[in-house]
Amino acid sequence: MQIIKSLAEWQALRKNLRHSLGFVPTMGNLHPGHASLLQASARENECTLLSIFINPTQFNNQDDFQNYPQTLAQDLALAEESKADYVLLPTYEELYPDNYHYQISELELSQTLEGAFRPGHFTGMLTVVLKLSNLAEAQRAYFGEKDYQQLQLIRGLSQAFFIKTQIIGCPIIRNEFGLALSSRNNRLTPEQWRQAPYFPAIFHSKQSCAEISAQLEEKGFKVDYVEEGQGRRLAAVWLGDIRLIDNISA
Ligand code: AMP
Repeated sequence: MQIIKSLAEWQALRKNLRHSLGFVPTMGNLHPGHASLLQASARENECTLLSIFINPTQFNNQDDFQNYPQTLAQDLALAEESKADYVLLPTYEELYPDNYHYQISELELSQTLEGAFRPGHFTGMLTVVLKLSNLAEAQRAYFGEKDYQQLQLIRGLSQAFFIKTQIIGCPIIRNEFGLALSSRNNRLTPEQWRQAPYFPAIFHSKQSCAEISAQLEEKGFKVDYVEEGQGRRLAAVWLGDIRLIDNISA
């Protein structure tokens, strides 16, 4: 596995790469959810590129950005185990030569659900995905259904801008209590870990969104939304200062 720290190095390498390439963009602190994307890529492509970049422009909350876990040594071990061939570690300066003066905004879907609660998040995400996709020039790129609205917006971006890379959605990986794995779960306190399993248990029950929302509040979650749309039921809740999201087919 080759670690690449400069865009020039990657671009030189990409020029001579004759194999099919799968691309997995991440913000690091890798867990089995990320590993599943890398494994899907390794099955379907001759080579896999992983990127790790904590993208500041998609954080609507500075504390969340400052506290985002950084675990590079552990990430590289998991990447190697999961058959990544190249790991790109770009810097902000290299990825944003425009200092974020150019942005990709979507004006419909991105205004609802996550977008309504996280102003600017999807613009930052779409902008970095376009930059990274142009750099990767991959045949396929892999994204988790855990961030369902994100996946829909990336599919829309790809169609709107005629991106040649095929966008592949991968199923949510959960822990033994049904909680979707997330880098932010690492910050849960032992008490919050005891409470957290109520989220998937209540969210996946066959009740109306209003009933689910009321029960979650009763169990001590602060609910941003529980809503149905695009054939999915989606939810976002807070446990203390940790935000958890989930979705299932409705
Ligand atoms: P992140 O590092 O959180 O930006 O996530 C990078 C990619 O991994 C995104 O496409 C996520 O949707 C995906 N991902 C994160 N957690 C999971 C999970 N539990 N199951 C499947 N995919 C996931």
